[in-house]
Amino acid sequence: MIEMNQNFQKLPGNYLFATIARKVREFAAEHPDKDLIRLGIGDVTRPLAPAVIKAMQAAVLEMGDEKTFHGYGPDFGYDFLVNAIAENDFASRGVTIDTDEIFVSDGCKSDSGNIGDIFAVNNYVAVCDPVYPVYVDTNVMAGRAGEYDPETGLWSNFFYLKCEEKNGFIPQVPAITPGEKTPDLIYLCFPNNPSGAAIGYDGLKSWVEYAQKTGAIILYDAAYEAFISEDLPHSIFEIPGAKECAIELRSFSKTAGFTGVRCGYTVIPRQLVRDGIHVRDLWARRQATKFNGVSYITQRAAAAIYTLEGKTQTKATIAAYMENARILREGLAAMGYQVSGGVNAPYIWMKTPGGMTSWEFFDYLLNEANVVGTPGSGFGPCGEGYFRLTAFGSKEASEEALRRIALLPR
Ligand code: PLP
Repeated sequence: MIEMNQNFQKLPGNYLFATIARKVREFAAEHPDKDLIRLGIGDVTRPLAPAVIKAMQAAVLEMGDEKTFHGYGPDFGYDFLVNAIAENDFASRGVTIDTDEIFVSDGCKSDSGNIGDIFAVNNYVAVCDPVYPVYVDTNVMAGRAGEYDPETGLWSNFFYLKCEEKNGFIPQVPAITPGEKTPDLIYLCFPNNPSGAAIGYDGLKSWVEYAQKTGAIILYDAAYEAFISEDLPHSIFEIPGAKECAIELRSFSKTAGFTGVRCGYTVIPRQLVRDGIHVRDLWARRQATKFNGVSYITQRAAAAIYTLEGKTQTKATIAAYMENARILREGLAAMGYQVSGGVNAPYIWMKTPGGMTSWEFFDYLLNEANVVGTPGSGFGPCGEGYFRLTAFGSKEASEEALRRIALLPR
């Protein structure tokens, strides 16, 4: 008889965004006159850059002409895009990445979920707490997570890297104890969703050194690198030795408003070898078999981000979001809230006031200020007592949210 993948049954429901949506729906139904400000979901709101639109329109016209029509494209991305990526995202920062180490995809969520295909089920996985839930759920589906404990909100087979206030929400490199198991796959995300924390050169170097010592592979999600404003690494490959122990995931979603267009890429250097196997070659095989590439029109759109015009326009959009982040961060801090993030990431991570739980604060803010955010506890137990606001709203919405929060009794 057919057997289903029972690992899926282990997944607790995706309560976070479903519960937020239900609460917001109920509130809106009860208070149709209230104007809600939504700073919860991490989706962008500003339109695509004109340079991107122009490139897409030109690509559409090409597709309508027999002489310039494109059918199936190269499995891992057109030369015009991988060359632009290698040049602009890496060579410009002193990192040499060969074009055949770059795999263009439909985004970082798919890649961070699918990358598990090339690793054995019995690998020991380390995730941060709080965490972008995709790393957790996809490893649950694959059978690497063990059992879920609803009391603690933790999985029995994961190695948790706590991200706490005392360490600036940066996970600390674990001690290596002889005879004790060390993680094989380590998911790191900087700048971080949800905490907005960003890692420096030394911090990232210590992770690379740890992976080199233990043989682990770091899966480095740099989806928010474009938001970095300080002198910090944009790529893990800026750290010497990282090519032997890391895979990097990138996305155009937040960089250029591609959440609805869908494009990103993964970098796997040739030097990354485990079990005598070039990890890159396995991913190439996996992608060539299961993925048929990103549309020509989308790749032309992505390449347009790297033109002079495209760079200027996308930078302006990011600057507008980061101005919202500044407004929220400084405004909340001035009111006495404890806030972090929002400097190198579009997320503000605030401590809930008066010892409220994340959900208590969610309800309070929804009911009293009509502002929607995301409870930190939804990202993991260490997120309890924290709350995430995004900078992806409009400037007016960010200012109005602050004005309303300022009126709350404290
Ligand atoms: N990685 C992180 C940390 C994210 O926060 C997100 C989206 O919110 C993604 C990846 C998804 O990126 P994409 O839209 O490219 O799938």
